[in-house]
Amino acid sequence: MHNHTSSPQMPVLFIGHGSPMNAIESNPFTRALEQLGRELPRPQAICVISAHWVTRGSQVHTSEWPRTIHDFYGFPRPLYEVQYPAPGAPREAKQLAFAHHFLADQQWGLDHGAWSVLLHMYPQADVPVFQLSLDQTRTFAEHVGLGRELRKLRERGILLLGSGNLVHNLHKMNWELPHAAYPWASEFDARVKHAIEAHDMESLAAPDRWGQHLLAEAHPTLEHYVPVLYCMAATDEADAVRYPHEGIEFGSVSMRTVLFQPNSASPS
Ligand code: ZN
Repeated sequence: MHNHTSSPQMPVLFIGHGSPMNAIESNPFTRALEQLGRELPRPQAICVISAHWVTRGSQVHTSEWPRTIHDFYGFPRPLYEVQYPAPGAPREAKQLAFAHHFLADQQWGLDHGAWSVLLHMYPQADVPVFQLSLDQTRTFAEHVGLGRELRKLRERGILLLGSGNLVHNLHKMNWELPHAAYPWASEFDARVKHAIEAHDMESLAAPDRWGQHLLAEAHPTLEHYVPVLYCMAATDEADAVRYPHEGIEFGSVSMRTVLFQPNSASPS
């Protein structure tokens, strides 16, 4: 369907990662990830922007072999035994750190926002991966500004992967409702979807304008929302949008996954 030289621009992917348990389960979400791994042009490297690495000042992980971080509590033991031994991408990572004066980090590794989805997409762990942190001191407009600059990575065969959730309220999760949504969760998810389809960066970067209360319900904290700003900012109207997976789980977690793919990459 595609060969590796005909697509000058890599796609950009946002994944709603949900529960860490997805790492060791098989369900429609994990099968959608497997399918993505098979159909996307094979990346030279993957730059992951995960909700689970929040720092003061942007940092880039530059190690040659990032460790698998089990950054969650109270889950079954097999989840803590999962390793994702993908190589790092120190050259690309250092280049990015140098170009933007980011701290080159050697401590982090891959958090579950990265490995719980990558192990379904690339089960052989043979695609180099590095993480870029979320700088908590940046405004939304500043995250967007950095996202725009990351656009150039796409031309170097790097897959930008934002990992968060478009609606993420763990306090309101209702285990009795595995496949249902609270009205505010559906509303926020629909607003984001609409903004993405309209390529309305302005609305996406000011979600409080959809209602302070609505935003506070959908995102009591904002770290699971911010990665989509990077994804959108690294794309433009020439990228077609589709949703390899969607749906709201347990009332309050949107599993919407968004693929931004250059139109020219469609099979002719
Ligand atoms: Zn998460």
